[in-house]
Amino acid sequence: MTDKLKTYEYQTEIKKILDIVIHSIYSNTDVFVRELISNASDALEKFRHIMLTEESVVDKEIPQEIRISIEKEAGNLVIEDTGVGMTREELIENLGTIAHSGTAEFLKQLQKHPGESAEIIGQFGLGFYSVFMVSDHVKVITRSYKPAAKGYVWESDGASGYTITQEEGIKRGTRIVIHLKEEKKEYLDEEKIKEIIHEYSNFVTFPILLSGKKI
Ligand code: ADP
Ligand code: MG
Repeated sequence: MTDKLKTYEYQTEIKKILDIVIHSIYSNTDVFVRELISNASDALEKFRHIMLTEESVVDKEIPQEIRISIEKEAGNLVIEDTGVGMTREELIENLGTIAHSGTAEFLKQLQKHPGESAEIIGQFGLGFYSVFMVSDHVKVITRSYKPAAKGYVWESDGASGYTITQEEGIKRGTRIVIHLKEEKKEYLDEEKIKEIIHEYSNFVTFPILLSGKKI
């Protein structure tokens, strides 16, 4: 597989954001769950629309849902959806540049009010990058619904860049494997995750399964 691995550098703006995320004093790190579930829900919503118009999609039969699981031994929280997924180009554009990201607004606000990053995180949310408040290594395993699309693994420690590897056997949708920082192991607790979902993600219309059980 190593011949298929490519290394990329984050856009300068993304590096700036990651630096703020990682060094911010913002204390309510629970919001990363909300951000990732909202992305999963958006991806499922997009897929639902595509299903109305397009004939051929990958893995048509799999249920449209969000699955959350906890890998205690490995120290991972896993958030997965069966939505649109991403191609290699979309991974680069969506997770490596500011072009299509909710973080653009964050950066704009930060430039207006320097030194208020904690307040701005609270107000605007940080989108995908909020995951690096709690994680030292994130894997995004994804396959687009597009019939010719291949599966990819995007990996980053939230520092300067990320890698993308093409892999076989990946189903449609996106699986995010979050390796928790030593001081953030509280997110390996099922009850804690359940509470956060009830607090922030009540609006989600797709089924959410936690350790295989619908919540
Ligand atoms: P926003 O959701 O405001 O666009 P994010 O930082 O949360 O900003 O996400 C950036 C982009 O990454 C999304 O717009 C989307 O295109 C892509 N993305 C993130 N998570 C997923 C996912 N689970 N499935 C498909 N695409 C995703
Ligand atoms: Mg988002």
